[in-house]
Amino acid sequence: MMEKLSRYNHFFQMVDTFRVVYNALSGAVVRMTPQHFDPLIEQGRSGEWQKLPGSVLGMLREGGMLVPGDMDELQKVRDRYREKRRATNTLSLTIAPTLDCNFACPYCYESRKPGKMDRKTRNQLLDFTRDKLETGGKLSVTWYGGEPLLVPDVVITLTNEMRKLASKKAATTDFSMVTNGYLLARPIAEKLSAAGVREVQVTLDGPPEIHDTRRKLRDGGATFTVILENLKNAVDLFETVRVRVNLDLENRHAWKRVKEILKEAKLLQHVKLSPGMVEVVSDTDASYRDACMDAGRFSDVLVNWMLESYHEGRRDALKLPRMPVCGAVSENAFVVSPDGALTKCWNDVGNPGKAIGHVSNPHGFNGNSEKWKNFNPVDWPECRDCDMLPICMGDCPDRLMRLGPGPACTRWKHCLREAVILHTLSRIKEEKHGKTG
Ligand code: SF4
Ligand code: SF4
Repeated sequence: MMEKLSRYNHFFQMVDTFRVVYNALSGAVVRMTPQHFDPLIEQGRSGEWQKLPGSVLGMLREGGMLVPGDMDELQKVRDRYREKRRATNTLSLTIAPTLDCNFACPYCYESRKPGKMDRKTRNQLLDFTRDKLETGGKLSVTWYGGEPLLVPDVVITLTNEMRKLASKKAATTDFSMVTNGYLLARPIAEKLSAAGVREVQVTLDGPPEIHDTRRKLRDGGATFTVILENLKNAVDLFETVRVRVNLDLENRHAWKRVKEILKEAKLLQHVKLSPGMVEVVSDTDASYRDACMDAGRFSDVLVNWMLESYHEGRRDALKLPRMPVCGAVSENAFVVSPDGALTKCWNDVGNPGKAIGHVSNPHGFNGNSEKWKNFNPVDWPECRDCDMLPICMGDCPDRLMRLGPGPACTRWKHCLREAVILHTLSRIKEEKHGKTG
């Protein structure tokens, strides 16, 4: 049978002595000499690649870079995406027990509202969970807000109740929390951990002189010192502690100082630090638009980040991209507001006009759910023809629907080359260490 080169191949020159081919659909990387690489980069325009040695063709076949001539790879991408979206063995809930917050961050897109999830709504949410969770499946819950630790009683009680409910259905659980970290004092952290919260994510936007001008209390008070102290006291209680650094044009290098501070505090080896991009997603934060980076600028940050990670031997920070499937377009994923309203996208939490239904009715979703159900990046001609499609899928569905391809394109478009090369170099380093013992 005739074979063809995959449309999702990416060719990168590494050093003088060898090259890499990366396939965005399989995720495989094949290393080769320039002599074998050069006929390939013509991508079938000449048939020269067919004369490559059988061993090289075998590697390419195994890596999904060489596929049967009649294979419809676009259909394969569609099928894989559909399958992932329809998977119902995991129920993913992002729960905002309150929309109130003790912080006043300038880039926040949420409208603050006092109040918390009441007992009636909590019971309805438990019934909803019972209905949607498959026996033997998995319950994945992310506590979110507002600031969830303003109402720790709701979080702890519901986590305990949901864990028991899941156990009756022989389902596994995975509880995590996104918090600003200010109220994560040891006694609360102990209770969260005992209830089953395994992962927390806090945010530091730079050293105190930067962080405290951005992530301040509503009365303007500083928060950095308290958060760092809380981290020191709570880090041993959770399986994973993430520290995110929200970056924009003003603080785009601040992650370096956060890293140094965490190192000085002997925390760096215990946390997963990652840079994040501040984005404007609604009218609430529209005034912040000029301060934001676009994906290209943010990719420069990521390249620096990956380079440092490579030099430090931190392979976990050099993972290759995989097909992203946002909960907003997944069948069994929901965002729950304090009043029990259900939305699909995190950006819509607390927005009644965007709700798709209510926890009291697990099967009655309204017309707002249609745009998420019908979302398909392949509907955009640019995405259909894009060689990044399997690792982008329109990236954030909300962004793609609002802005279209171009502004919505994945950051990998700007830094895939560096990611693949550094990932490969780190593998080579590891293999060498393996060999020398
Ligand atoms: S659609 Fe975009 S903003 Fe909404 S939850 Fe998904 S990734 Fe986040
Ligand atoms: S959003 Fe951009 S990078 Fe992503 S698949 Fe579409 S065209 Fe490609």
